Amino acid sequence: MSEPLYGVPHPHGPLLGPLSPPLVRSTTAGQPDAETLRAMGAGERPGEFYQRVGHQNGRAFESLVAAHEGADGAVAFASGMAAISGALGALLRSGDRVLVAEEIYGGTSAFATTDLVRFGVQVDRFSALDLEGLRTALQRPAKIVVFESPINPTLRLVDVRAVATLARAAGALTLFDGTFAPPPIQNALALGVDLVAHSATKFYGGHSDVLAGVVAGRHELLGPIEAWRRRTGGTLAPDPAWLLLRSWPTLALRVQAQQDAALALAQGLLDDVHHGRLVAVSYPGLPQHPDHALARRQMRGGGCVVTVELPGGLTGARRAFDRLTRIARAPSLGGIESLATLPAFTTHAALSTAQRAQAGIADGLLRIAVGLEGADVLLADVRQALGG
Ligand code: PLP
Repeated sequence: MSEPLYGVPHPHGPLLGPLSPPLVRSTTAGQPDAETLRAMGAGERPGEFYQRVGHQNGRAFESLVAAHEGADGAVAFASGMAAISGALGALLRSGDRVLVAEEIYGGTSAFATTDLVRFGVQVDRFSALDLEGLRTALQRPAKIVVFESPINPTLRLVDVRAVATLARAAGALTLFDGTFAPPPIQNALALGVDLVAHSATKFYGGHSDVLAGVVAGRHELLGPIEAWRRRTGGTLAPDPAWLLLRSWPTLALRVQAQQDAALALAQGLLDDVHHGRLVAVSYPGLPQHPDHALARRQMRGGGCVVTVELPGGLTGARRAFDRLTRIARAPSLGGIESLATLPAFTTHAALSTAQRAQAGIADGLLRIAVGLEGADVLLADVRQALGG
């Protein structure tokens, strides 16, 4: 195989020259001769050629992700959805069957049921919390199993290794969305999945100012994904790639501080449950969480998202939501600012109250993506919002 056009892990050398990498915006690059032009045009050689094919800032980010994930390489895209749709678009063909977890990001679900179906892919759903159901679904051939963990917004966990093992035994690939728990927290490839995708908009960016996505895995799978990116043009641009490089050295520190604050917030809010000011608090790092043992097996920490159920259903949740002063009322997660959303109004608005209830999503649910303000500040904000 010729050298890949995407980033591959490379060993750390001494820090020589400028410590902040140059940002190279050039869309094209001069070549020394006809043979180089030919080889670059044919995709036989990596390097600076034409920005849609790849560029040094993008490859540097891909190399970091690949090393961090323990992958052969990584392919970066302009958004998380471009990465997920790119992986599926590149590997599936008309007539293939794909199994998509019910408990998956809405954008992935919409892409599968709208676009993959339009292109003749059979999309079947399964519950990632029901391994027996998955085993039955895999009795008929499937090309890819798509799932994620932790599940949004219930924060239930999927046994990643068990799903990967079942899929592999049935001859199916696995595509795992690792957005809610990137490698400082969870290494999905080490747990056995074939491909891991991230919305790098979240923790990798970390400052709510970058839209990006990335897929990591084995060369044999990344080759077609990179070719898809080149053909369809969803390449990550140099500016966001540079910002991702800028965010990288603080990733582990940010995630650790955010996890510590999330755990302390969840522990503090247990008191509010005890006194009836909250119906429930969910956080995988709490021993009370139904999947706490699994969290200890497959994650390093409980993640950076806490959900609470307010008394009074949607009315109670809206009231507390509107009263927040430090936690911003905004979608997304993984950034330095804490954000709150109401799943009944955002990610799960398309479902009826009954359908949400069946998925374990109470109308009074409030999701808090924990940033870096500190647990005391967040706890005080939630408590004042509760009116206590
Ligand atoms: N996957 C998950 C779990 C997400 O939460 C999101 C966005 O919120 C995406 C994928 C899509 O990422 P992006 O918004 O970068 O396209």
